[in-house]
Amino acid sequence: MFNKILVANRGEIALRVIRAAREMGIQSVAVHSTADSDAMHVRMADESVCIGPPSSAQSYLSIPSIIAACEITGAEAIHPGYGFLSENAQFVQVIEDHGLTFIGPTAEHIRVMGDKITAKDTMKKLGVPCVPGSEGGVATLEEAKSLGDEIGYPVIIKATAGGGGKGMKVAQNAAEMEKAFQTARAEGKSNFGNDEVYIEKYLTTPRHIEIQVFGDGKGRAVHLGERDCSLQRRHQKVFEEAPGPSITAEERARIGKTCADAMADINYIGAGTIEFLYENGEFYFIEMNTRLQVEHPVTEAIFGVDLVREQIRVASGLDMTFEQDTLEINGHAIEVRINAEKLPSFSPCPGTITQYHTPGGLGVRMDSALYDGYKIPPYYDSLIGKLIVHGRDRPEALARLARALGELIVDGVDTTVPLFHALLAEEAVQRGSYNIHWLEHWLETNLSDS
Ligand code: ADP
Repeated sequence: MFNKILVANRGEIALRVIRAAREMGIQSVAVHSTADSDAMHVRMADESVCIGPPSSAQSYLSIPSIIAACEITGAEAIHPGYGFLSENAQFVQVIEDHGLTFIGPTAEHIRVMGDKITAKDTMKKLGVPCVPGSEGGVATLEEAKSLGDEIGYPVIIKATAGGGGKGMKVAQNAAEMEKAFQTARAEGKSNFGNDEVYIEKYLTTPRHIEIQVFGDGKGRAVHLGERDCSLQRRHQKVFEEAPGPSITAEERARIGKTCADAMADINYIGAGTIEFLYENGEFYFIEMNTRLQVEHPVTEAIFGVDLVREQIRVASGLDMTFEQDTLEINGHAIEVRINAEKLPSFSPCPGTITQYHTPGGLGVRMDSALYDGYKIPPYYDSLIGKLIVHGRDRPEALARLARALGELIVDGVDTTVPLFHALLAEEAVQRGSYNIHWLEHWLETNLSDS
């Protein structure tokens, strides 16, 4: 086992990793930009190294600075968290070239899954069901138009290098194809430096269901059920739960086994998430995230496992502590993402936290790096906390969420908390009956500026 690991991230996820390390008796090293000198992850780690100015490009994304921080502190392994360098194959390569260990999958797996066309092709070959669409990339508008006619509208044009909801455009009909095609390409080019796009049937009423997988890199892999992340704004998740209210035990076992077998086949190591759209009882693969996800705590809650601990274990060559047969679902968990954003525009709202009080009690977990007097810097993501609740069943989890949100105090900045109070009063949310488009429509009617 490692003696010391470096956490190449900030905010709540850096704390999450530091906490797991501490429980395992492993020393932790935080890295930070000059804007984060007073950040909680710096205070909580055993050691810290300043790696650059506020801009992420010169700090949290600077591979040489992070490697140097490892060398200075003697850290043997790096946990990337999510975002930043967590899905950067070159980062993994450099880490290995320096004789260090990356706590995550291999560079090759990141490369394959990071390109959505290659990912889809690989998954199809491994027997995972995919959304109908183009075979590989679509180079010209003519090709795009004839595919649209063939698959049937609406279709979605996606940048192969896309992520975070960027580089995706829907064409409702042939007339909209030209604009959607050019925009998706331009967004791919400007955001990800790659203008290759592909086309998929646009599903009109799907739910977003993702399967948590975990492999030991030696041909053994398991699944930890699904998370339903259908409540989304601009293709970004805001409310996640496990298990999915629409998924039966039989469906879970079937799609879970397909995913676990696929991961065993490729000797996948560590945590991963295979994302699907789910419509009329069918699963359609959309992409794989080769890292820990923001919403991993809902899975931890219902299975009673620490996914970060398992990641660190397998990276150090140990076995995972669970097997498929020992993994059992217990109750229901929900997470809401609390962002420092002003409603109804959702514009980022950095500033100073004047008062912070976290909810507590049975089945309540608050993952956040906030504290009284903390200054949220304007340079990074607006996620400031995740409130996770666990109950014996969905109604109990919902009641607990309402209760916990009522206890939470975050003063000094605007947050998305009022959105969740309002959503919990909705019958569709109470019943769990919505698809990925529901929240956008709801926001238009209930929260629009006009
Ligand atoms: P990203 O990498 O940007 O997160 P994804 O491919 O995971 O992109 O898709 C993100 C979201 O976009 C999905 O959760 C879903 O809401 C929507 N989406 C993606 N593909 C389709 C599709 N074929 N039909 C309908 N919606 C889709």
